[in-house]
Amino acid sequence: MKPDPDRVRSGGPAPDVAELLGQARQVRERAYVPYSRFRVGAVVVTADGRRFEGANVENASYRLTSCAEQSAISAMASSGSRGPITTVAVIADGDAPCTPCGACRQTILEFGPDAVIHASGEGGRTLTATIAELLPHGFGAARLADGHDVAAS
Ligand SMILES: [Zn+2]
Repeated sequence: MKPDPDRVRSGGPAPDVAELLGQARQVRERAYVPYSRFRVGAVVVTADGRRFEGANVENASYRLTSCAEQSAISAMASSGSRGPITTVAVIADGDAPCTPCGACRQTILEFGPDAVIHASGEGGRTLTATIAELLPHGFGAARLADGHDVAAS
């Protein structure tokens, strides 16, 4: 199913994608990336219209690096919000759209099982997809709650 970026979700119309990506671009400026120099900025939007920002934060112990999407979702959860996340905008250095990594897809699914992701780079092309398209047959809370077999749906 092709996502409709203009579809109305609870809380009102979907936010303007270009404006959201512009905000993510500003957040990207705050990335802490002394090792990779690969900056990423993300903004997540919840159903009540709140926005949470995140940039990637690296660490000399590489595996402790936090992705921009995870930083934004941590900010959301730390504020007390549990979403649901309706929209994620992510933009990175480089021309190609920067789609969320596998771990971030799982994190987005946790708080936004119906989220639409707009991934972009500096090349001007934006890839838009639902989390279900990016993480097919994902393992989520529904599986734990009632044994629902996502692979069969
Ligand atoms: Zn990630």
